Amino acid sequence: MNTVEKYKKYVNTAMVDKVQPVIIEKANAATVTDTAGKQYIDCFSGIAVTNAGHCNEKVVEAAKAQIDKLIHCCSYVYYSQPTADLAEKLAQITPGRLQKTFFGSGGAEAIEGAMRLAKQFTEKTEFIALQASFHGRSYATLSITGNVSRKKRGGPYMVGCTFLPAPYCYRCFYELKYPGCRLRCARALEDIIRFNTYDSVAAFVAEPILGEGGIITPPDDYFLEIEKITKQHGILLLIDEVQTGFCRTGKMFAIEHYQVEPDILVMAKGIADGFPLSGFIAREEIADSFKPGDHLSTFGGNPVSCAAALANVEFLEEQKLADQARKKGEFLKAQLETLKVKHKMIGEVRGKGLMIGIELVRDQQKTPANTEGNKIREFCLEHGLLVGLGGVFGNVVRIQPPAVINQSQMEQMLKILDQSLQKVV
Ligand code: PLP
Repeated sequence: MNTVEKYKKYVNTAMVDKVQPVIIEKANAATVTDTAGKQYIDCFSGIAVTNAGHCNEKVVEAAKAQIDKLIHCCSYVYYSQPTADLAEKLAQITPGRLQKTFFGSGGAEAIEGAMRLAKQFTEKTEFIALQASFHGRSYATLSITGNVSRKKRGGPYMVGCTFLPAPYCYRCFYELKYPGCRLRCARALEDIIRFNTYDSVAAFVAEPILGEGGIITPPDDYFLEIEKITKQHGILLLIDEVQTGFCRTGKMFAIEHYQVEPDILVMAKGIADGFPLSGFIAREEIADSFKPGDHLSTFGGNPVSCAAALANVEFLEEQKLADQARKKGEFLKAQLETLKVKHKMIGEVRGKGLMIGIELVRDQQKTPANTEGNKIREFCLEHGLLVGLGGVFGNVVRIQPPAVINQSQMEQMLKILDQSLQKVV
């Protein structure tokens, strides 16, 4: 049996529309190679993970050295040096007074832990999240996920989760325009608190840029308005940086674009350049509201993943990858704006750094061009380019390459996208 046949028989892929028809054998920097030797420019990074590039030398070296010493001990039962070193580093690079990290293995696990911490600290039980948001596929994280297409046939969900219209300016819930709207969608938080909750809200949860929802990018002053309201009501600001963290958006953390200080910040994906690791970091007094027995994770803070993560963060800093992501993103967005003039199907180009969304529409009424999006992704794959596809309507092409992508790869990417748009009209 070959790989595809074994997948069909033994791997449960019933929950994905279609596994992309490529068997990936190896990868380096922003290039992925399949078993037939065909190379692809990777503009999806394994869903926004390998920000420092695939098989980054420094990360690989650190992981190999750690593997030779110790793979596992459970970093909550015994002390482990890489876990301590990484936690110290995260306290230095995260915004504000965030200080103590709890480590897990995946994004959903970390969000769920952060929700529990918020409940424990505030002694409240409700959450407010954004429509179109995505926070993971566990019970609690699906409960606060606003993108309902991800929730079908999984309910009933947790009570006490309420949703605020997303800052989706291209499809404004209130049919207003920024800045004339004076952030109606953020100000609505007051109404949601007053009419949809019973004065027991632990946290407002949000991604700084909504990744799976279609790279929905809030206006620059959005979180300032949100923070004003959450502070007035004693509600924690729980920021999900699972997809946006570690230089993806042109800053180490995307919330730095918005000048607010999260109470709890959640990390995963890009933290260790592909090694499974996640964490949530909080100010000391919040972190310490966990009491013995309240929380744990067997694999959390795994020494190999932590050693890889530390090397990864050092690489991001040494190479100024946040600046690189910002500059490369600016170049790509300017070029994509030119393509938008040429191709009517491009409704909007948005995002920050190397987290770019191209929303495809059929007409001036903005009918989502989702089947066309699929065809574009197929065309790109055939022509040696991996892109993502997402959004609440499935019509947003996602450009999220490793930040080490080079100029000629970006130009080639634009050329293939241009051809795909021409072909699919
Ligand atoms: N939060 C956000 C913003 C995400 O994009 C994701 C995954 O795509 C998650 C949480 C869940 O992470 P994981 O798939 O590692 O559980």
